[in-house]
Amino acid sequence: MKIHEMTYSEIEANVSKGLIKPDEVLDAFYNRIARVEDKVKAFIKIYEREEQFGTTPRVIAIKDNMLIKGKKTTCASKILRNFVAPYDATVIKKLKENSFYIIGKTNMDEFAMGSSTENSAFFPTHNPWSLSKVPGGSSGGSAAAVAAGECPLALGSDTGGSIRQPAAFCGVVGFKPTYGLVSRYGLVAFGSSLDQIGGFGRSVEDVAKLSNIISGKENLDSTSLDYSMGDFTKLLSRPIKGLKLALPKEFISDALDNAIKGKITKIIKMLESEGVVVEEVSMKTIDYAVSIYYIIAPAEASSNLSRYDGVRYGLSKSDASLKHQYMKTRDAGFGTEVKRRIMIGTFTLSAGYYEAYFEKAQRARAKLIKEFNDIFSKYDFIIGPTTPTVAFGIGEKVENPLQMYLQDIYTIPANLTGIPSISLPIGTAEGLPIGMQIMGNRFKDAEVLNLAYAIERMANFDYTGGMKKLDKELGDKYGK
Ligand code: GLN
Repeated sequence: MKIHEMTYSEIEANVSKGLIKPDEVLDAFYNRIARVEDKVKAFIKIYEREEQFGTTPRVIAIKDNMLIKGKKTTCASKILRNFVAPYDATVIKKLKENSFYIIGKTNMDEFAMGSSTENSAFFPTHNPWSLSKVPGGSSGGSAAAVAAGECPLALGSDTGGSIRQPAAFCGVVGFKPTYGLVSRYGLVAFGSSLDQIGGFGRSVEDVAKLSNIISGKENLDSTSLDYSMGDFTKLLSRPIKGLKLALPKEFISDALDNAIKGKITKIIKMLESEGVVVEEVSMKTIDYAVSIYYIIAPAEASSNLSRYDGVRYGLSKSDASLKHQYMKTRDAGFGTEVKRRIMIGTFTLSAGYYEAYFEKAQRARAKLIKEFNDIFSKYDFIIGPTTPTVAFGIGEKVENPLQMYLQDIYTIPANLTGIPSISLPIGTAEGLPIGMQIMGNRFKDAEVLNLAYAIERMANFDYTGGMKKLDKELGDKYGK
């Protein structure tokens, strides 16, 4: 097996046995990037090869909304195009302490707003499985980089599905831990009560190991939790017999693609044959999750993004009048989707409409949390699809924001409730990957990873599928 096709765990095992030299690992990923990146365009910035700080080359890519001291953090926005981070995000600090080699910063929807990475102010990223398709978003660059063999691991952020949806589209594993377990310090804020950093990898074991490294209390972050998870990998191979799973009816509605429904049903049959109980339940508030999210997330975004005023950070369009300086800077610096969110958020938070929208959405959110708590008092997990469809075409949904928002109908509830959720690939439809989602109660992260690990074994998905398709596509041009 080629190094760029290996999982992080396989690379580590080979290096520790002396079968591969650390240097060869870096060579493999830099060579792979040189070969495929023109087509995939997963990265906003690929760092020059430097001397590594450790002996084990643990290669990782970072979504370009996390700060790395002395390097640019653009958030794929013109307003931050030349912004150089003055400090390391907590996750970056932890990666550096653990001898990780950061290979580059990945493309994303501007300020993490979007589901296709087409809202990047720079360029769209292509899905390695089919270059005319989107990789999903907003962490589409991270997902595509892992799927294309450009790095074994990547970090993303998930506010409404931005790790899990691109993971599903690109045929990799994406995990959003319990809100608060990974510090948001140094992550550019979008919706602060929803944002969570998490990992992408080519196996459940890999993302579990990565979670161990990036999690932990950060005193500089008031929403970071002290709760000690122990070890995310500790339950991976625990037997799953006797577990009780809930499948919400609302998840298998007409909106769901038949091929996805079929694959989920197949996995459910396999689970049942191993002594797992799966029951259909009704969770009525789920139908309101997208509406709740598109009030709360823009409200928080409008507040968070008020700091980009042409004075403190990034782009500045000067004007004799301060007000005009704000207006000119923000008009030139923000893209259409970001402006749309700021306007919606400003409206729902305004004195005249606060009660009708923001407050009502918060009440509905509380109701959703209660509904999830009720289900978790009877079931260990909630399962379902990650996305209603497989990856769609580049350009297909850009004109229709509402269609784009509906991409997240299955992923948003986990953000609104703060629970851990994973997407893992379980098969393909018409050559494109299908993701399955598992949600557990707060702090049941290791348990979620346990079930995911078991399902990964049942699905037996080929994580190198996207790389092979890409190789085939490039074959003629570059030779073998
Ligand atoms: N697609 C959702 C949005 O546009 C979620 C984005 C995210 O999780 N960052 O808001």
